[in-house]
Amino acid sequence: MTVLFTVLSLSVLATILAGIVVLADYKLNDYGICKIDINDGTRSLEVNGGSSLLSSLASQKIFVPSACGGKATCGLCKVTLVESAGPVLPTEEPYLSAVEMESGVRLSCQVKVKHDLKIRIPEEFFNIRQYRTRVSEIKQLTHDIKQFRFQLLEPNTINFKAGQYVQIDSKPYGKVTEAVSRAYSISSVPSENNIIELIIRLVPGGICTTFLHEHVKEGDEMTFAGPFGDFYLHEGGDELIFIAGGSGLAPIRSLVLDILEKNLDKKMKFFFGAVRKRDLYYVEFFRDLEKRYDNFQYIPALSGATPEDEWDGEEGLITDVVARHVPDAKGRQAYLCGSPGMINACVQVLTKIGFERETAIFFDEF
Ligand SMILES: Cc1cc2nc3c(=O)[nH]c(=O)nc-3n(C[C@H](O)[C@H](O)[C@H](O)COP(=O)(O)OP(=O)(O)OC[C@H]3O[C@@H](n4cnc5c(N)ncnc54)[C@H](O)[C@@H]3O)c2cc1C
Repeated sequence: MTVLFTVLSLSVLATILAGIVVLADYKLNDYGICKIDINDGTRSLEVNGGSSLLSSLASQKIFVPSACGGKATCGLCKVTLVESAGPVLPTEEPYLSAVEMESGVRLSCQVKVKHDLKIRIPEEFFNIRQYRTRVSEIKQLTHDIKQFRFQLLEPNTINFKAGQYVQIDSKPYGKVTEAVSRAYSISSVPSENNIIELIIRLVPGGICTTFLHEHVKEGDEMTFAGPFGDFYLHEGGDELIFIAGGSGLAPIRSLVLDILEKNLDKKMKFFFGAVRKRDLYYVEFFRDLEKRYDNFQYIPALSGATPEDEWDGEEGLITDVVARHVPDAKGRQAYLCGSPGMINACVQVLTKIGFERETAIFFDEF
């Protein structure tokens, strides 16, 4: 009897405590209307306090880059807080340098709006728009890569630089109840400004890629925000070394086509690394460009070819293939896109032959 009474009392106490916590949380999180001053009064917003700075800005159509959708795993959503909004969180530390922390840079997905804030963001963020689109074509490129073409509906044109990316919004499907937003590089050319094309690799168990590969159909409406990113053509470089793997081909295709279209006086070598022949795509497309343009060379390479691939092209790791074809850094820039592992290995090879890490190597990793 005493045991039963004790258990009952503890249960009642726990329920009361839980109620107090919920009530306190509700009261404490009621921050009311908070003002956000951007770039010394260039824009001034009023938002309901309590949400992240990233989503508060997005609710007012100011889109800060965020490839992971606010999970503090991409480190892209940096803004400068003119006045402190509390200490930097452990989740932010891996993405911020000592200088950035010193100057008030924070990950906007980790800063909760609890009072008025003064922030600074790059001016180009004001040009980022949200687009309503219709999926006009879906093509299977390899066993796990699809290309999506989006017809822009509202606004019906976009200005972007070759190499930049957009953030596609998924929708809830099956057992997935959340809508997420993920970064995808544009593979089409800026001159075709009423469409964009994306090349998307299916990540097993991935929320957005499963949605795109298995649930989106031609004719569906989708939204994205953009353009984002600084992976575009930089000043200098008589010869450009492009290196990509997997869906990393996307921004490189846009860059190559843009340079050829603008008739820029640049030589280009495009190295594409894959394991087997079945992982190659756009081969005929780039071979055709090579025939038509003297300044463009296409070098696909397989690292795991078997006799059944009947492959007579370059073999080996892409780093070895690059080392065989690129003697030094003289007059050259390198643009890399692919997995972090591939990029790290290529950066090591390129710096060894004299490429300056800060001024001659540019990359987007995913
Ligand atoms: C600037 C930028 C540009 C990008 N452009 C492209 C592009 O053009 N084409 C493209 O296909 N992708 C691109 N990505 C990657 C893309 O944004 C997503 O991260 C990826 O598609 C996975 O999203 P998801 O929602 O399907 O997976 P999630 O639900 O986010 O992840 C599911 C699981 O897979 C893991 N995971 C996440 N991403 C990868 C990955 N790439 N490989 C292996 N495992 C992963 C996660 O750690 C998690 O465990 C780009 C990323 C960045 C930062």
